[in-house]
Order: sequence, then C-alpha cells, then structure tokens
Amino acid sequence: MPGRPICGERRIPSITGGRCRWPKASNSTSCERGSGVNAPVQATSSLLRPASRLSAIGVSEILKITDLAAELKRQGRDVIVLGTGEPDFDTPEHVKDAARRAMDAGATKYTALDGTPELKAAIRAKFKRDNGLDFAQDEITVSAGAKQILFNAMMATLEPGDEVIIPTPYWVTYADIVLVMGGKPVLVPCREANGFRLTADDLAQVITPSTRWVMLNSPSNPSGAAYSAMHYRPILDVLLAHPQVWLMVDDIYEHIVYDDFRFVTPAAIEPSLRDRILTVNGVSKAYAMTGWRIGYAGGPAELIRAMAVVQSQSTSCPSSISQAAAMAALNGPADIVRERCRSFQARRDFAVTALNKIEGVTCRLPEGAFYTFAGCAGLIGRTTPDNHRIDSDSDFAQYLLRRVGVAVVPGSAFGLAPYFRISYATSPSELEEACRRIAHATRELSH
Ligand code: PMP
Repeated sequence: MPGRPICGERRIPSITGGRCRWPKASNSTSCERGSGVNAPVQATSSLLRPASRLSAIGVSEILKITDLAAELKRQGRDVIVLGTGEPDFDTPEHVKDAARRAMDAGATKYTALDGTPELKAAIRAKFKRDNGLDFAQDEITVSAGAKQILFNAMMATLEPGDEVIIPTPYWVTYADIVLVMGGKPVLVPCREANGFRLTADDLAQVITPSTRWVMLNSPSNPSGAAYSAMHYRPILDVLLAHPQVWLMVDDIYEHIVYDDFRFVTPAAIEPSLRDRILTVNGVSKAYAMTGWRIGYAGGPAELIRAMAVVQSQSTSCPSSISQAAAMAALNGPADIVRERCRSFQARRDFAVTALNKIEGVTCRLPEGAFYTFAGCAGLIGRTTPDNHRIDSDSDFAQYLLRRVGVAVVPGSAFGLAPYFRISYATSPSELEEACRRIAHATRELSH
C-alpha cells in the first residue's frame, strides 16, 4: 500500500525516535494514521500547560479540511464541501414538536443520570423491534451522542496499556478515545479486496493477552462497507475463543443501507456473547438529529453502571429536551427514514458511477452510510498544472481544494491510503457539480 507512515506530524507521546510504539502486529500498521492527522495541542501562553494526555490527540483532519474550506469561502472562493458526516435533511417535524411540547410541560430540569425511564423504554422497544434484542432497563444507557457512549465505555474499562483492536479505515475518534485513556489502538488494515472488512484471520493474529476490546462499525464511516451475518460469524467465533476480549459495535448507520442489504448486529447473531458486547446506536444519522446530541447503547448491566458513574461526573445527564425528541424519533413512523434512505441511495449510485468514470480513480459500491471511499493510487506520481507532484492522498485532497474548490477527506486521515472519502449527504446538484470538478482537476494532472 503506497500510503506513507503517518506518525510524523502528531505529537503522540508513545512515539520515540520517529517510531510508533502502538502495538504492531505482523499484519497491522499501527503507525498508519494519515500524515498531519491532527493539530497538536500546544500551549499558547506560559500559563497554560496542557496535560500530557492531550498531546496524543487533537482536532481531526476532517475538521481541518472543513475549516480550510470555510476560510476559502470567506475569501470569496466557490467551495463545495463533501467532508461533513451529517445528513443534509432537517430533523422531522414530529420530533421538533415533541421537543416543544416537552419544554412547555416543564421538562427543563436534570433527568435520571443515564436517560429518562421513558426514553429507555423506547430504546428497549427499538432494540426488540429492529434487532431482536431483549434488554432490561438497567442494560440501557443514554448519553450526549454515540461519541460520549464510546468515551464512557473506554473510560470505565481501559487500564493503561490495554489494547483495542480497530480495523482500518476507521472513524478517527475510536483511536483518539483509546489514546486519551492511556490505551493502545491496534490498527488492522482491511483491504479493499475484502470489502474493507476485518477478516477472522486478521483478527486472530492481532489478539494478545492485553486485548480488551474490538471495535466494529457497520455500515462504516468512512468506507460505507457493512457486515452481513455471514461476515460477522467467523469473527464472532474468534471472539468465543478469547473470553477476555469485549466487542463494541457501532451501529449508528443501521438505517442507512441500500439495495437488499439486511442489517444485523452481533449480539443477535451470537447471544452467548451478549455479556461482553456493547451495542452502540443513536439518533444523529437516521433522524438527522446531529445537533440534539443523543446516543444510546445496550450492554451488560455491570458495564452500563460503570459508564453511568463516568457520566455522573462529566455531563450529569443528556439534555432533557433532546431526550423527549429522541423518544418521539424512535417511537415515530419509520417511513420517513426509508424515504430519506432512498434519496441517499440515488446519490450513492450517481457518485460511484461518476467517480469510476475518472481515469486513475476506483470506487467500490458501499452497502450503507453516506460515504464513498474511492481509491486514488492511479494518481500518485502525477504532476499538477503548477508543477507539484501528487505523492499522497493528502496531496490530492489539497490539490482538489486549491484547484477546483472541492473539499474531500484523504483516506490517510482514516488510517488507509491512498483513498479519499466523500460524503454524499449533500444536495444532488452540488454533488453533480463536485464530481464534474473532480473529473476536470484529475484530467489536468500530467503523467
Ligand atoms: N460513530 C460513527 C461511525 C460516526 O460516524 C459518528 C458521527 N460522525 C458517530 C459515531 C457519532 O455520532 P453522535 O452524533 O451520536 O455522537
């Protein structure tokens, strides 16, 4: 894989002498995190001395590209941003109505620590209806987004040096949360030939006595790849043989799946693993509620209790009004979600076809989410009209932004190069124009 090693531009404390000390299994590239992924947190005045744990993490390249695009826009440039991971739809009206009603009824106070009983009941019903999972009330937790769920789970369980297996390409937050807890992300590259999915063999090779968690995400951000029951089965068999290893599954894109793909979640496939699976979900993506900040999970009561302790000393509880809104979303009609999914599918089909027509670019058809993860290996080594060599996917992303005002995120930011991610959760006309511009900019590259 021509992606260059990436530890260089981050101040990761576990890197010495240019070598990354994340555990590196024979078939894992623990260093491969994308050049310049994050801006290091540095003291700006002599009074501030940031805690050393912060030097491991920073602002993701996605936000950096979005910021740069915003800056170019401010300068009057015409920029199309395909970087953001949120639906362009608005929150459904019945959900907003529920929030208004909740406010009027006085639901403006602290709530139960990790979710109101009413919302937990709606979540239990959702798990039963959509996933065939029976959770008791004390096996459910609610937080300010799925991101806080992950944060709580890792803070509640990781000891320094514990290893967490993360297939790449991956949502950058996974590794950063592990790092900030003093854990060790073990990044396992998942080849495009395997549909960007982790295989049981890859997994078996990287499990050690220090492995605490495996993190899986289906459909995936950034690849859009999803695991069917057939893909999960051998992975779960490996986990059955390693009782010290827990599984975190991030199902946040559950409802955004295409064609005849049948979404399934591991706790439903292998009930005997239920005692060590945390099934994470949320309302951000399915119901276009990113700003409301509600995520939830089902898992063993002991873990859920420990996560509530963490939450009790950070945010106390999720927003009372947002919880009422999330309840309306989960209990409400499903057809609006299906209708929006059809719209995403049309955009996916358009984007994949357009990208595959570009010489030097290849794009796999994703099963879900609203991203394409296109390969640009064929463009590496080419030269821009102003005489710069494209040496990496980051170079290509920078070139697209400078030359034609299209913001995409390089695959190296997600731990797998050379690729670039576009989010097609944008208007069809913008998407069309962006693909036209990418094709144009690519034609201008010389061999
Ligand atoms: N998991 C994945 C894979 C995501 O892409 C995101 C959002 N980008 C989240 C979790 C976080 O979602 P939330 O808004 O619920 O924190």
